[in-house]
Amino acid sequence: MTRRRIVLLGPPGAGKGTQASRIAEHLAIPAISTGDLFRANISGGTELGRTVQEYTSRGALVPDSVTNAMVADRLTHQDVTDGFLLDGYPRNVAQVEELDTLLAARGQDVQVAVELTVDVDAVVARLLQRAQVEGREDDTEPVIRHRMDVYAEQTAPVAAVYAQRGLLVQVDGLGSVDEVTERLLAVLDQDA
Ligand code: AMP
Repeated sequence: MTRRRIVLLGPPGAGKGTQASRIAEHLAIPAISTGDLFRANISGGTELGRTVQEYTSRGALVPDSVTNAMVADRLTHQDVTDGFLLDGYPRNVAQVEELDTLLAARGQDVQVAVELTVDVDAVVARLLQRAQVEGREDDTEPVIRHRMDVYAEQTAPVAAVYAQRGLLVQVDGLGSVDEVTERLLAVLDQDA
């Protein structure tokens, strides 16, 4: 059985967004990216967008109360019944616990956490390149460095929690987009 309640981890610039869409399409489940949801709210000028921009623009984590409420709402949508892939959430250990609680209320749990591993210098270069293409305001070098630090301090422990539960699989994020997708799909097709 393919595992269908998936958490995708990996530092900024590891290619999570691209891979998340591909896997989600392949498995016919939604890819839920908290970063994309925040950006959509910012560009849409919503109240949530105005609240979070001061954090996203400097590469800091948005407060858990705001992020968790947004995810809780998203997980009430009908399309997550058969599974979902979370990209960019949970981002700290408190969010892991919140996700556990949200899923437990429905008799569910996370089935696998996949961590895309990459070389830090390579991802900084990739993000600076993305800055020129997409113009994201958090893709400047100092903000990128800060996001890397936040990942190491707050999100790396998330991988450790899933590792303790025997749910973590690390996948080499280096290579062509197709190669990495194949590696990820191979991992997800394995039995839990
Ligand atoms: P991303 O697109 O995943 O790199 O996220 C962009 C920015 O959105 C991050 O630098 C944070 O400011 C914010 N963000 C995304 N996901 C989370 C989360 N789970 N918790 C807190 N902040 C988040």
